[in-house]
Amino acid sequence: MNNQSKYYSVFPKIVPANRQSLISVKPMFPHRAFKKDGQYEVLCYPVDYCKNGSKHDKCYEFHKYVKDGTLYIKGYFEGEQEHIIYISEKTQDGKREIGVFNVYSLEEDLYNRRPYKGDMHIHSFYSDGLESPAYVAACCRKIGLDFMAVTDHGLYSPSIEAQQAFEGVDIDLKIFRGEEVHPPENPVHIINFGGSFSVNDLFKKDENAYREEVYEIERIIADEIPEETERHQLASSIWCFDKIRQGEGLGIFCHPFWRVHDGYYISTLLTKYMYEKQPFDALELIGGYHKHEIESNTLQVASYHEERAKGRKIPVVGVSDAHGCERGELFGWYYTIVFSPTLEFEDIRDSIKSCYSVAVESVPGERKMAHGEFRLVKYALFLLREVLPQHDEICYNEGYWMIEYLKGNSEAKAQLEFLKGGVDKYYSLCWGSMFE
Ligand SMILES: [Zn+2]
Ligand SMILES: [Zn+2]
Repeated sequence: MNNQSKYYSVFPKIVPANRQSLISVKPMFPHRAFKKDGQYEVLCYPVDYCKNGSKHDKCYEFHKYVKDGTLYIKGYFEGEQEHIIYISEKTQDGKREIGVFNVYSLEEDLYNRRPYKGDMHIHSFYSDGLESPAYVAACCRKIGLDFMAVTDHGLYSPSIEAQQAFEGVDIDLKIFRGEEVHPPENPVHIINFGGSFSVNDLFKKDENAYREEVYEIERIIADEIPEETERHQLASSIWCFDKIRQGEGLGIFCHPFWRVHDGYYISTLLTKYMYEKQPFDALELIGGYHKHEIESNTLQVASYHEERAKGRKIPVVGVSDAHGCERGELFGWYYTIVFSPTLEFEDIRDSIKSCYSVAVESVPGERKMAHGEFRLVKYALFLLREVLPQHDEICYNEGYWMIEYLKGNSEAKAQLEFLKGGVDKYYSLCWGSMFE
């Protein structure tokens, strides 16, 4: 978006592919109003066609008309891609540029979904974080997340506490349940995201039953996994992921290339078996690594692409694994964008499982990056540039008042009610449905 373009509201920003759409370009200030008798030129370049200097394989001149100072553009948006729209006014001595605007056209499956930002791996002071679960939730809203879950080590109840803290007020942030699961004698870290019961509690309450069931799984996979250590660890992980699914949660395989001292926290042989058996529902493609640990994310991305090249479908998430929202690191650096029909848990979970998500890196001062399937990454980069900044501003306000609510500010409840539905309203403008 160029600076001039900021003085215009352009909606919708997302249109259906291979159809006509009507886009309105509304100036913010009266001196920029479009004139009824103005001579405007609207040129549209679909980015999938190459542009060499001034020569472009494809350029459409769009129909347009002016009504009440707003310019309406009617055009056909071909395929799934970004379109750059140049608007200028013909003057006596040539052309005056008015603005450059970006629109994205989508195939129906993706068009009918909305991008929701979330972090499903984050800690509170109940394990080794710094703040209360409720404070963590409010901070998540402040940085532009639509959903989150507190996932403390071995503990499920902090995630419930985060939900309960906001029971008295209607907020848009979805707070889901969760925990980081640490089964006995198995180093693999596993996230239970949104499951209806604690998996940690199962082996805490009855370790014998756990051992018997894991032993049974070990017996079944014995032929495939000759190594005793990896066999036990894989069997225990399969047990955990099964239990998470019984609770209708999403089981996440955490940070496979996390380097602890002189080696990865689990053997690469185990990671190989994990990819082969895929007992998990989603892979932490981008994990919460500090800057000196960033190699681990690079390895995760490389191994993911290699596994995909073998024909595997691998659902992915990006998470901050933050242990404090005010430390100035990790929190907000990594998250997931899920393309989901709604923000309800079932839709978020099923969208991730059917590979409608990307993992995002948003380290301050560095270029934002999205990782996952090509089609989704291409679209996510557009969203990060053109749509999500305004989404995040709306969330910030709600997050601010959520913290005030926790502090006991008597105005907070009314403010939160007033802000309710902000993202929905913005999204309905961004998508619109002005078919011709
Ligand atoms: Zn962990
Ligand atoms: Zn963690």
